[in-house]
Amino acid sequence: MKTRDDCLAADRQDPLAHLKSQFALPQGVLYLDGNSLGAQPVAALARAQEVVSQEWGQGLIRSWNTAGWFDLPARLGAKLAPLLGVPGDDVVVTDSTSLNLFKVLAAALRIQDSQAPERRVIVSERDNFPTVLYMIEGMIDFLKQGYSLRLVDESLPLQEALGDDVAVLLLSHVNYRSGAMYDMAAVSAMAHAQGALVIWDLAHAAGAVPLALQADGADFAVGCTYKYLNGGPGSPAFLWVAGQHQNAFWQPLSGWWSHAQPFAMSDRYAPAQGIRRYLCGTQPITSLAMVECGLDVALQADMAEVRRKSLAMSDLFIELVRTRCAAHPLTLITPEDHAARGSHVSLRHPQGYAVMQALIARGLIGDYREPEVLRFGLTPLYLGYADVWDAVEILRDVLDTRAWDRPAFLARAQVT
Ligand SMILES: *Cc1c(COP(=O)(O)O)cnc(C)c1O
Repeated sequence: MKTRDDCLAADRQDPLAHLKSQFALPQGVLYLDGNSLGAQPVAALARAQEVVSQEWGQGLIRSWNTAGWFDLPARLGAKLAPLLGVPGDDVVVTDSTSLNLFKVLAAALRIQDSQAPERRVIVSERDNFPTVLYMIEGMIDFLKQGYSLRLVDESLPLQEALGDDVAVLLLSHVNYRSGAMYDMAAVSAMAHAQGALVIWDLAHAAGAVPLALQADGADFAVGCTYKYLNGGPGSPAFLWVAGQHQNAFWQPLSGWWSHAQPFAMSDRYAPAQGIRRYLCGTQPITSLAMVECGLDVALQADMAEVRRKSLAMSDLFIELVRTRCAAHPLTLITPEDHAARGSHVSLRHPQGYAVMQALIARGLIGDYREPEVLRFGLTPLYLGYADVWDAVEILRDVLDTRAWDRPAFLARAQVT
């Protein structure tokens, strides 16, 4: 695509183009941050109104039964399951990704401890999203059973980090900063060959790339619904456990919603069978209900088509940056190999923070991550090829005119 007209022509041929009208995007905004907070589905407003005024306002406590509130974590899990490539009754939507990491890590460590107590190492990578590393550190400190964290980095490749002392490998499928993606099947097989269980954080993968957790041999997975799944700010996360592990251990956040009979009000804990034992307590129903609006749009799209368009848009973005912003010190840190790329593109610039503030002031919303990284999320459900063209033109203009070089753009906000 050499011109904006070429992009418009590609948009007219795009089988996903009609889905854009199902999102409420503000006028004058080019939204390339759906990898961080997805856009608002149009249906969400009416659904929120229904939950608040009908289900809560009129139904009151009866709605736990009559509006299906009690079953919502499992019903939404079943709806999400096809996007993860797993059976419907192996997923729940509940709690935050960080909390769910705690639950599945505890389960994986306990399963390993019962079979191979000499395995006391958890492997992750230095470049992982910080909450993953922090939750592992917290678990190690809490357990005080001699566990340690080993981090993969430039000096320690994954193959060398794995070994007969490793209990669990915990990785993000798509890296939040670079957009690099692991081969899930190959990495899971490598870990299993070394006797480790594998947990995948799918925060930047679910809804963005086709997933086949079961076929790829994953053991556990967690992820956000507020990024590519458009569930709303802070919407509850999801958690999947492979069938063979589900009843092997009960996770330690064993609140009453994970009990076999929550309303028996027993004084003794007995875990539910299956994935329900990964719940904890009462769910934030208003927020949880919004997740369905995002899923309903995602399920209308063929995931192979979503992937094809995501790669085409990111190829176009990379090519246009290369040809039209060549005079500027931008470094692509996202792999160009399709198999190794998620659905966002990241560029380094020495003044990355200020550049992003200037772009946002011009209506192009991406985001900034340390160090010096500009992230641009390419979401096929509500962006097209002409949007990519326009985004790169704004970037080029901001760089050519040094519009970023102003005190207001150099001052850091609390959330970057
Ligand atoms: C966004 C993200 C999270 C977020 O976790 P929360 O508990 O929802 O704050 C976790 N892991 C990864 C890899 C992420 O990208």
